[in-house]
Amino acid sequence: MDNCIFCKIAAKQIPSKTIYEDDDLIVFNDINPAAPVHFLLVPKKHVATLADCREEHAALLGKMLLLAPKLAEEQGCGYKADETGEGKGSGGFKTLFNTGPDGGQEVYHLHMHVIGGPHLWRGQR
Ligand code: 5GP
Ligand code: ZN
Repeated sequence: MDNCIFCKIAAKQIPSKTIYEDDDLIVFNDINPAAPVHFLLVPKKHVATLADCREEHAALLGKMLLLAPKLAEEQGCGYKADETGEGKGSGGFKTLFNTGPDGGQEVYHLHMHVIGGPHLWRGQR
């Protein structure tokens, strides 16, 4: 996609603070963070929205979801379970796909937000 900012970031035509990369995904810090930790998991192949995903994207979406807690841990906002299994543990992060105008999507290249840090959900994003 010629005019897509995340395609350009994936192609290294625009710089980003990349924290992870493999053949399928690039992960970089959000330019306008909503919390102390805020990064975006972005497929290298262009897909506009979550609503455009099909069966063929299932493995990619699963990979994104499984990678999120690992990277959150590395970035300092991992979730720690309560060892007794009774409490709710500590730490943690938000995972978010905005879809379409009513979903607050600004960049029409599929991405998952991971947003972490203490007490960040007083406001709404
Ligand atoms: P959306 O509202 O589409 O779910 O989120 C798009 C996100 O991309 C926003 O949080 C915005 O700050 C971020 N963003 C937009 N342009 C750039 C950019 O050029 N570089 C980076 N690192 N983040 C961007
Ligand atoms: Zn794109």
